[in-house]
Amino acid sequence: MFQWFGKINYSPFTKVGAFADHLKDGRLMGSRCTACGTTSFPPRADCEECMSGDFEFQEISGRAVLHTFTKIVAAPTGFEDVTPYIVGVVDLEEGGRALAWFGETIAEEEIRIGMELQVVPRIFEESEEIKVYYSLDRPGTSWSKV
Ligand SMILES: [Zn+2]
Repeated sequence: MFQWFGKINYSPFTKVGAFADHLKDGRLMGSRCTACGTTSFPPRADCEECMSGDFEFQEISGRAVLHTFTKIVAAPTGFEDVTPYIVGVVDLEEGGRALAWFGETIAEEEIRIGMELQVVPRIFEESEEIKVYYSLDRPGTSWSKV
């Protein structure tokens, strides 16, 4: 299942595997602990506050504020062909943080810490696997399969 997420997969099994199924349908899901109500993104099966293993998925809007960013010039193995690129860490409206690439709707000169952004799942359906990544785009950017 986690071959969907990228070029390398080290996770043969996870309790939050349905996350990928939701992404296929264009829904960005975090988790909510059913014992204490703590929310997190990415989804966690085990609560970071109370250690409960009971959780439910909670859809998030993707509305976010830029926490920090960096320009990648020396890329990790597998990404050399796409340098340079800019990634950002955002604080999500519902809680939690996401790391994502900047999308085409935002020029490098516009990027400012604290700016409002929209986390957008980008889904590529191919014959043998589905690849998903996120981009950071202008508020209001719609989510759709590309
Ligand atoms: Zn909890």
